[in-house]
Amino acid sequence: MAKEICISNMNLNKILNNDAFSRDEIIYMLNLEKQDEIELLRDAAYSTMSKFVGEKVYFRGLIEFSNICLNDCFYCGIRKSNKNFHRYNLDKDQIIEAVKLAMEFNYGSVVLQSGERTDESFIEHVLDLVKTIKSISTNDIFPEGLGITLCVGEQSKETYQRFFDAGAHRYLLRIESTNESLFKSIHPPELDFNKRMDCLKSLKEIGFQVGTGVMIGLPGQTIENLADDIIFFKEMDVDMIGMGPFIPHKDTQYAYMIEEDEKSKWKNYELALKMIAVTRLVLQNVNMASTTALQAINPFGREEGLRYGANIIMPQLTPTEVRKEYQLYDGKPCMDEFAKECHLCLSGRIASINREIGYGEWGDSKHYFSRTQNEN
Ligand code: SAH
Repeated sequence: MAKEICISNMNLNKILNNDAFSRDEIIYMLNLEKQDEIELLRDAAYSTMSKFVGEKVYFRGLIEFSNICLNDCFYCGIRKSNKNFHRYNLDKDQIIEAVKLAMEFNYGSVVLQSGERTDESFIEHVLDLVKTIKSISTNDIFPEGLGITLCVGEQSKETYQRFFDAGAHRYLLRIESTNESLFKSIHPPELDFNKRMDCLKSLKEIGFQVGTGVMIGLPGQTIENLADDIIFFKEMDVDMIGMGPFIPHKDTQYAYMIEEDEKSKWKNYELALKMIAVTRLVLQNVNMASTTALQAINPFGREEGLRYGANIIMPQLTPTEVRKEYQLYDGKPCMDEFAKECHLCLSGRIASINREIGYGEWGDSKHYFSRTQNEN
């Protein structure tokens, strides 16, 4: 009761003027429903973004190079036990073709993402790709070559070190939910919450710029859980955040949710935007992606994410012929477009909201530099 009184007494304008936020204040902001208040939150997040990381949007060309996955995450369309689609593994030439497009479009970075494998031949394939991408993209104009982000799941610390030594410098590994029982409810028993945590710690120790994130609107997830996720991002001192709405996939146990009313879909979408805004207010100088899952619900969802404080976009470079086979969730947009069309479309959309694109720049997380300076 005391807590309710305290929350109802909160004043949004006063909270938004803070530069540190209590758990109750985070919960209060995530619970906002009135349009004018949500706009105040959005504008505050936008100005925090402008102040701490600037208004530029950085592109990371996304190459989903294989959908072969040994994990069976309950929510994911490419989970091991889903037999309703074709598994692919792009060969090196196809991947390098996609990398060349990134260079042609003057993107500063690429992301190599795939389903999860830990066998030595997979690891060597990734190492070879990282080294090759570095060598073909390094020249006089671009002395450090393309920035490389990896998103290939849980690996041993030794493997992460090998990836880093080969030239990858950012790693994305979502915690999915920082509530251990919620994490357990969406993953098979072999996926261990503490192991995921240990992976994030190892990545940081090695020196990667580390990104994590959660899905928003998971069955059983509360606003309090999401507030705790944001507090975790802060305490874990991560450099990058990628999060988006949970979208049920037809070949998973959550298929029944697809039939649920439109309302809950939009609720998740709005909650995802509020999460982006509140995370920006709390973490200030991190890089934050406006994810494709937002666009799966609203055709202009990615632009909206940028207006709520995100500063990173991952344009599709995955060859069109296999893109349909990398459906983590239903309704994933941009399935039929060629990379060039995605490029033109996104550049136009970003220009339409008056944001500049950081072409040819890595656009690294400012947070990484401030935390590593403090550590030294
Ligand atoms: N195997 C890699 C790549 C995973 S896909 C890894 O584990 O890092 C990237 C992200 O897609 C996942 O971390 C998850 O948060 C998200 N995702 C998967 N299924 C989803 C769904 N049904 N709805 C929304 N996001 C989903």
